[in-house]
Amino acid sequence: MNAHGTQLSLFETRSSTDLFAVRVSPRARRLTARVHVGGRVEIVVPVGVSPKTVRDFVNRFTPWIDRKVAAMQCVSVPEAAVPVAVEFAFSGERFDVDWIVATRRNLSFQGDRLVVQAPDDGVARLLLQGWLKRAAAERLAPNLLRLADELKYSVARVAIRCQRTRWGSCSTRGTVSLNCSLVFLRPEVVRYLFMHELAHTKHMNHSANFWRLVERLEPDYRSLDRELLAGWRTVPAWVFKS
Ligand SMILES: [Zn+2]
Repeated sequence: MNAHGTQLSLFETRSSTDLFAVRVSPRARRLTARVHVGGRVEIVVPVGVSPKTVRDFVNRFTPWIDRKVAAMQCVSVPEAAVPVAVEFAFSGERFDVDWIVATRRNLSFQGDRLVVQAPDDGVARLLLQGWLKRAAAERLAPNLLRLADELKYSVARVAIRCQRTRWGSCSTRGTVSLNCSLVFLRPEVVRYLFMHELAHTKHMNHSANFWRLVERLEPDYRSLDRELLAGWRTVPAWVFKS
C-alpha cells in the first residue's frame, strides 16, 4: 500500500492500479488533494464529510491528480537529500517528514508530522535546517541553564550554532555555544558536554586542573568524551548539506 499516516481512515480506489489515502483532519476546512514526491496521493478531509462527497471530489479532480502524479513520479530525489523522518535521541522524539513539492515555502506540523512545502530539495532542506536550530534551542538551552543552576555555575548566554567543527564552546564572557546536532546524541552524552563547557567557565583550557574539575562533575567522563567524539557519525547528512 502506498499510503501511511496515523489518522488514515479508509482507502478509495481511483483506478485499478492506483490507491490514494484519505486522511480525516480535524483542522481541515475543505477537501484538498495532495500529491507527494514519488506520486503518493493523499486526500485531506474535514471531519464529518461523507465518503460519497470524497468520491465525487476525487472524480472531479482526477485529471488534475493524474497530471500531478505524473510530474511527481519524475522528481528524482538524491539519497538522504530530504529525510523521511527526524529522530532526536536527546529527547526521544521522532518526527515523520512529509515533503510536498509546492511553489510556496512553508514548514508546519500536523500532529507530530512535519510538513515541508518547498519547490526543490535544497529549499526543503533549508527549511528543515532552520527548524532544527529552533528545535535544538528549545530543548538544549533550558537544560543547560537548569544544570548550571543546580551546580551553581553562571552562564550569561546560550547560543545555538550549527557548525560542523565543534559540539560546544565557552567564551570568557560566559556565553556557552552549543551545536544544534547535540539533539541527535544520547542525553547522558549531552549532559557530559554541558559539564565540560561549565568547567570551561572556570578553566579556559584543557589543563590538568580543568580535567580534575570535569572528573569531579562527571566521574565517567572518559567514555562519554569518546562517545561525544564519535557522535558526528550519528548526525544525519541533510543537517550540513547546502
Ligand atoms: Zn573543552
